[in-house]
Formats: sequence, C-alpha cells, structure tokens
Amino acid sequence: MREFEQTFDILHEPSQEELRKAAAVACGVPAARVRQCDIVRRSLDARGRPVYRYRLRAFMEGDEPPREYVFDYKDVHSAPDVIVIGGGPAGTFASLKLLEKGLKPVILERGKDVHSRKVDISAIVREGVVNPDSNYCFGEGGAGTFSDGKLYTRSSKRGDIQEVLRQLVAFGAQEAILTDAHPHIGSDVLPRVMENVRNCIVEHGGEYHFGSKVVDLVPPASASGKWKVVCADGCCYTSANVILATGHSARDIYELFTTKGWALQAKGFALGVRVEHPQHLIDEIQYHRRWQQGYPHAEYSLVEQVAGRGVFSFCMCPGGVLVPSTTESDAVVLNGMSPSTRSGKKANAGIVCSVEPEDVSGFEKFGPLALLEFQKSVENAMFANSGSFRAPAQRMTDFCRGKLSASLPACSYAPGVDSAALHELLPAFVASRLRKAFPAFDRKMHGFYTQEALVLGVESRTSSPVRIPRDENTLCHVGLDGLYPCGEGAGYAGGIVSSALDGIAVACAIASK
Ligand SMILES: Cc1cc2nc3c(=O)[nH]c(=O)nc-3n(C[C@H](O)[C@H](O)[C@H](O)COP(=O)(O)OP(=O)(O)OC[C@H]3O[C@@H](n4cnc5c(N)ncnc54)[C@H](O)[C@@H]3O)c2cc1C
Repeated sequence: MREFEQTFDILHEPSQEELRKAAAVACGVPAARVRQCDIVRRSLDARGRPVYRYRLRAFMEGDEPPREYVFDYKDVHSAPDVIVIGGGPAGTFASLKLLEKGLKPVILERGKDVHSRKVDISAIVREGVVNPDSNYCFGEGGAGTFSDGKLYTRSSKRGDIQEVLRQLVAFGAQEAILTDAHPHIGSDVLPRVMENVRNCIVEHGGEYHFGSKVVDLVPPASASGKWKVVCADGCCYTSANVILATGHSARDIYELFTTKGWALQAKGFALGVRVEHPQHLIDEIQYHRRWQQGYPHAEYSLVEQVAGRGVFSFCMCPGGVLVPSTTESDAVVLNGMSPSTRSGKKANAGIVCSVEPEDVSGFEKFGPLALLEFQKSVENAMFANSGSFRAPAQRMTDFCRGKLSASLPACSYAPGVDSAALHELLPAFVASRLRKAFPAFDRKMHGFYTQEALVLGVESRTSSPVRIPRDENTLCHVGLDGLYPCGEGAGYAGGIVSSALDGIAVACAIASK
C-alpha cells in the first residue's frame, strides 16, 4: 500500500481507471498491478490555477485490504436501559454506540420530529413566535439539523472521526464527506439523515420520546439504586445510567443544577456578530478572480489577536442564509445554514471574540452562571432594539467608523433587519475588538472590509458558557454517580462531530462499567 498526492482539474472528477493509472505512474509499477486506488482526502487549492489536491492510497496485489467499518447494532428490546436526555449529535451517537454495545437507549427529547419541527421554525419568521421546545436549537437531531452541516473538527484526539462520518453516510449523507477536507452535508439532507438514525434506533428496540422535556433529576437513594428522570408531562423514567446531552441552549438544565446545588463551572465562550457578504465577492477574493461556473463557492477562515483576545470567524456558511436561532421569545440570536449545494447568493459567518469570566463585570453574583447571564443580557439588548426578532444591523464600514448606516444592503435574514448602532449595542470590549479586526482581516483577504458587507447582532451561541464538570476517567459527573454530562452543553465539545465523538466516548464509558 502506498500513499501519494495528485492534482486534478476542479471540473473533472477522476474515474477509478484514471486513479489507478496515476497510482501506477506514482509507484512505478504497471497499471495491472494496482488493484485499487482510494481517495483519502480531497482539498481545494486556489492559490494558483484552482485544482483539487488528492491524497490517494494505492493497493497492489497482495496488500492488506482497507479497514472496513461494520456497525453491528444489537437487538436491545429487552436489554438494560440507559436514559439519554437530548437527541442532538451527542445523544444520537451515544445511542448508536449503546446499540452496538447491547444497551437500550431511551431518548427523551423536548422537541419534535424533523417534519413537525420545520413548521415551528417557519412560524418564527411567519408569525414572529418562537416555540421554546421546538426551534433551530431544539428538536430531533438537535442544533445541527437545520445547519450547514459542516463536519470539520480539530478534535481528532477525541475519537475516530471516520466512524462518525461513515455512520452519517450509512444513514443517507453524501459519500464525499468521507474524503473532502472540509466536508458538509447541508440543511436539505441532514433532517432525512437524522430521521433514518431514529428509525434504526427504534427498529433495534431503543425508544425515542418526543415532547419529553426533562424538568427534574432525582439521584438514586442507594448505591445500587436508579436515577429518576421526570418530564414536564408527568412521565417518569428510571435507570442506573443517565446521559445528559441537552446542548448549550438548555438554560433550564443549568438552573436545575444551581437549584440542587450540584457542581457547575463558568466556561469561556465567544460572542460577536454575523457578517454577510455577497458570495461572488468572497469567490473573487478567494479564487483571485478565477472563479467560474462549476467551481465550489469559496469559504474563509480568519483569526486575529486584538488586545489579548482572539477574534475569529466561526461557522462560515458559503451560499447560505442567516437564521433566527433563539430559544427564547425575548432574544435575538443569529446563526447560519446552507443547503447541500451552497448555491445561495450570500456568504455568512460568525465573527466572534473570545469572552473569559474576567471580561464581564457586574455578573459575578451569578457565580458559575455569570457568563450565561452575560450572554442573555446581550441577546435581550438586541431584541429590545426593535421589540422583535428583526436583527440590528450596520454596514461593516459604518460599524467600524461608529456611525449609523443610512441604507442597508439586501440580506438573507428572513425576519428582517433594522439600521442600528450595533457598535453601541454590543458590549464595548467586544465591539472595540471587532472594529479593529475587520480592517485587519482585509490585509489577509483583500476586499473583505467593504461597505457591501453587513454586520448583524448577535452571534452568541458559539459554545456553552457553562461546564458541567465530570471525572476525566469515568466521564461521570464529579459528584453524581451514574449521571454523564455529555456534548456541547456539558462544555466538552463544540460542533456536530466533536459532540458526536463525545457521545460515543460516554456510551463506551457506560458500557465498560
Ligand atoms: C443554525 C445552526 C447551525 C449550525 N451549524 C453547524 C455546522 O455547520 N457545523 C457544526 O459542527 N456545528 C454547527 N452548529 C452547532 C452544532 O449544531 C452543535 O455544536 C451540536 O448540535 C451540539 O450537539 P449536542 O448534541 O451536544 O447538543 P444539541 O445539538 O444542542 O442537542 C441537544 C438536544 O437536547 C434537547 N434538550 C434540551 N433540553 C432538554 C430537556 N430539558 N429535556 C429533553 N431534551 C432536551 C434539545 O431539544 C436538543 O435536541 C450549528 C448550530 C445551529 C443552531
């Protein structure tokens, strides 16, 4: 077996025959000796003439075949229960791993199935109403279901990323995610994938309960006892093991922990704005004016240190739209999503500034929830600007100069935008850093700092501002045996793949008990 690199034109997808020929040349052997040539990775290189750079793996006669991923989900109808609170990536992948380990996942999800959820999501724009249990963050598949479905992660040390990607493909995601350097699924494909996962869990004997908002957790009375998990509808579930994978927007769970006096910690996160450019402008910049029909739309990733804090781009969505991702009726929160084709006319990204506990004064009285209360206060200030889900917005150049925009460019955010002094609405330590970062980004991406770009508030749900501490070996809560904080809400992940990996790790920890 040998690995090598080869470039191909962007508009040409090489056949297996061409790959084998390339392997024969690279390895100096006759083509007939190359049994198979697999794509390991495909990345776009637009520094010169745009090409796809392939990392290829050639197998000769007699070589060991590539590793096969086989997912052996057991029939768990009568197996021991593990309660999984939350059906996001962490809870979902924990459940799939439990099936493999012969344990029965009982998923309690406050939201609705993907189809009913779509109706609630459109009501946010159509009627100006947010359902606190069914929205862009809550419901089947969790916060990532209606997203760009970007699957890049830096968390390769946390587990086998290919295991997550291969399962997603088995449930209906595009095969390209296995090899693309920047894989993404798209908001039109993800709901179907999540529905297929649920069907698999239920067919194998797991349980999936929608509309099951957990409102209380009662610890076992004795070491051999069980947790009692109480839902808002009065239903109770019991199990020795409970996975708590409720995501970073389940503020009621953090409040429940505070009421009970259970350990929580404030955790740094990031807050800032969403920025929207015309996609063609980003394409022109990133392809050095060589973009042409058929090329994928360009992405960007930017970072700058400003006054001791990182300011960086986050969750960039080429060809995407801005969405109202609040879970409360008095908050404006923005996020972005793209369809699988990324064919929209706008490019948006979060541009956020890291926030540490020492940055926020006046919130100390909230203890571990200080950063959460700070986050809430900014979201509420954005809502108070218009008393609706309309987003306060400014042209990027006006934001940096500190003046109101006389007019605003067209924007993909369906609830609408209002010209506002966003530079004053944002906390001063965030606004001042962003105002320095935008012109600095222009030095890396000439044309980024432009009056055609719109800056909107607020991007605040980047990761959890709270950590639910757990033992690093058992992955169990530090003081509560049998309770496993998991995923982004527990502060141990950020993004779809790392949350999924954390779910897998927690399920393995339970199975090995
Ligand atoms: C619009 C949008 C776009 C995004 N785009 C991307 C992207 O492209 N790539 C990426 O990597 N990440 C993206 N993210 C972030 C990503 O979705 C999250 O990092 C990931 O979903 C976290 O997984 P999780 O399972 O830990 O939590 P979540 O996905 O938040 O899931 C938690 C689940 O728990 C449920 N829950 C909460 N409280 C309770 C309760 N009391 N009782 C029962 N159930 C409860 C919720 O309804 C939810 O379904 C995006 C997020 C949003 C909102």
